[in-house]
Amino acid sequence: MTCCKCGKPICHDEAGLTCKLINRGAQEYYCYDCLGQIFHTSRRKLEEMADDFRAAGCTLFL
Ligand SMILES: [Zn+2]
Repeated sequence: MTCCKCGKPICHDEAGLTCKLINRGAQEYYCYDCLGQIFHTSRRKLEEMADDFRAAGCTLFL
């Protein structure tokens, strides 16, 4: 999988976060950096968000 904006390879968490933040059925995924630009937040904040979802048992982040 690659980021649909910058073409960088993305990890599982980045794909999961795209689903959460943009659209559950997303076919295009964004890396942390591009998600940060879209949502005006930092990469660190997004990583924390992914950790929170994982802690909550979200199946997108297993
Ligand atoms: Zn990107």
